[in-house]
Amino acid sequence: MSAGMFPGCRVVIGSLLHSHAATRSARDLVGRSGLVVRLIPRGTSVYALVDLDDEIRGYPGQRRWPVHVDDLVLVSSPSAAHAERVPFIVGIEPFPAGSPTRSVRHAVPRDQSDRERVKAVCRRSVRPVRSTIGLLAFDPSSALACPECADLGHQA
Ligand SMILES: [Zn+2]
Repeated sequence: MSAGMFPGCRVVIGSLLHSHAATRSARDLVGRSGLVVRLIPRGTSVYALVDLDDEIRGYPGQRRWPVHVDDLVLVSSPSAAHAERVPFIVGIEPFPAGSPTRSVRHAVPRDQSDRERVKAVCRRSVRPVRSTIGLLAFDPSSALACPECADLGHQA
């Protein structure tokens, strides 16, 4: 399984045994390093969308590849300890009513970070922020934090 593997992890592609045929055909992927952008559960398997450090020969412009997590070697997870302690990540309301120039940061349950749209703690519909450096923790003390999310997130 994907224990210890999450967005922001640095990985090396160790093999292509478990990955899709389309991925397996790109043999040059083996040995390449990159960052896990997100995890993609498929039935009992979990794939990681890996953002390669460099393109491989024959696939110009394609930096991101879905690779089965069992084919990946974990190099480092700098935010591992950090991620364990993050109950809420940041969600953005694209066009907040009343303050169109200011983006408000809402609290989104961490386990919903891979969805397009989620209900924030304050019940507003928001878009979770994905970052290649890992999870973006919701900071209730930020000037940009939604006051309702800051209050409720505290109690949760
Ligand atoms: Zn909110």
